[in-house]
Amino acid sequence: MPVLDTAALLHWPAERLQGGIVTHSQLDELRKLSPQRAMLVESIEMEWMSMGTGDAESAAANTGDLPRLSPVDLEILAVALATGQTLFTDDYSLQNVCRSLNHPFESVSNKKSEQQWAWELRCIGCRATKKADSQTEEECEICGSPMKVKRSRG
Ligand SMILES: [Zn+2]
Repeated sequence: MPVLDTAALLHWPAERLQGGIVTHSQLDELRKLSPQRAMLVESIEMEWMSMGTGDAESAAANTGDLPRLSPVDLEILAVALATGQTLFTDDYSLQNVCRSLNHPFESVSNKKSEQQWAWELRCIGCRATKKADSQTEEECEICGSPMKVKRSRG
């Protein structure tokens, strides 16, 4: 039984959604995005779960992806980790955290990111780089230009 992110709930046919694991917070999200789709999803036999996100948050903090993940994303990740089931998501940050934990994941739309990456700060002036501990942009210690958060191959 796969764990499905909201993109799957929006785009997959009902037959494919059947039996999937989802979180209650996703249903709230889906109601805002597409009330019609929410009604359809509620009529399908799926496993609805709620989960604390502590472990998911630590894992996402380790890869630097935490600031890019919503509370709903983190809960989906937490459910995937707790159940050991494959996570279907197109969110690169979720995929990145799964990859760092060797947790199985698949894409919703069959596009899968190939590479593990890390986040780094890169100076727009002198191109110096440093590891990004957070997503906060700072000034370069060498030349004083702004440093922007970029993806780097990890
Ligand atoms: Zn610089």
